[in-house]
Amino acid sequence: MFETGKSVEIVEVSARDGIQNESEILSVDTKLDLIRKASDAGARRLEVTSFVNPKRVPQMADADELAARLPKGTARYIGLALNARGFERAVAAGLDEANFVVVASDTFNRRNQGVGTEETLAAWAEIAQTAKGRIGTGLTIGAAFGCPFEGEVPLARLLTIVERAMAHPPDELALADTIGVATPADVMERVGAVRRAFPEVPIRLHLHNTRNTGLANAWAGIMAGAVTLDASLGGVGGCPFAPRATGNIPTEDLVYMLERAGICTGLDLDACIDAAGWLEEQLGHELPGMVMKAGGFPASGAA
Ligand code: ZN
Repeated sequence: MFETGKSVEIVEVSARDGIQNESEILSVDTKLDLIRKASDAGARRLEVTSFVNPKRVPQMADADELAARLPKGTARYIGLALNARGFERAVAAGLDEANFVVVASDTFNRRNQGVGTEETLAAWAEIAQTAKGRIGTGLTIGAAFGCPFEGEVPLARLLTIVERAMAHPPDELALADTIGVATPADVMERVGAVRRAFPEVPIRLHLHNTRNTGLANAWAGIMAGAVTLDASLGGVGGCPFAPRATGNIPTEDLVYMLERAGICTGLDLDACIDAAGWLEEQLGHELPGMVMKAGGFPASGAA
């Protein structure tokens, strides 16, 4: 099914998607500690903040300060943007990459970014051209597997939006199961269909474990050709604009599954577990990750 020695890249999103729904605002220092711990555990790409209206997402009000204080090193930092203004803020903040979002359903796009899908696609066309040579670009198709307001998102609708967006290709295309409704069969079908249509663009998957299909979907995605997966330490997460959305797939659970299967992630499992435990203490409530509770196998240090 896969070649030994295969590797998969994990983007650590706890500092952005992970904590954006937490009611308690974390200090910039605490967020920087989180980013440092994830980097020390081996994360080489991290989505660290979003450049959005602080009134709508108060947890991200410190985006500019956080960006200015990011540790310099080997990691690449990604900022999320929902419109041209946010995108320019990501460029000005000196981030390595900006991740722009278009939502596959019109209602959710309006809730998430205040305008319809058409307008956001038009914004992307402009942004993609102004971004060249200034910043790396990712484009995420939100609610690519289903919408909390409109229900099913037909595959044909998704492919139409991908096709429109790919008129101005990003460096990376992400499919997001924003509300955690996908099953492995959906992931195989949709990742496969997008790859067949646009084989040259690397596919990233953004999965939520809302209905406990997250890790199965991650596996299906890799088998279907996705090369990058988003995850958050401890499985922390939610979405302020998606009712009842829960966390991303837990980084350490994903690392455990992949490394045991001989797929290299570049992350150290024990360091991830430690970082997830630390994050749980900072937030003051239990996180959903399971390997952080059970530990790896075989136990570290065992012969
Ligand atoms: Zn998300």
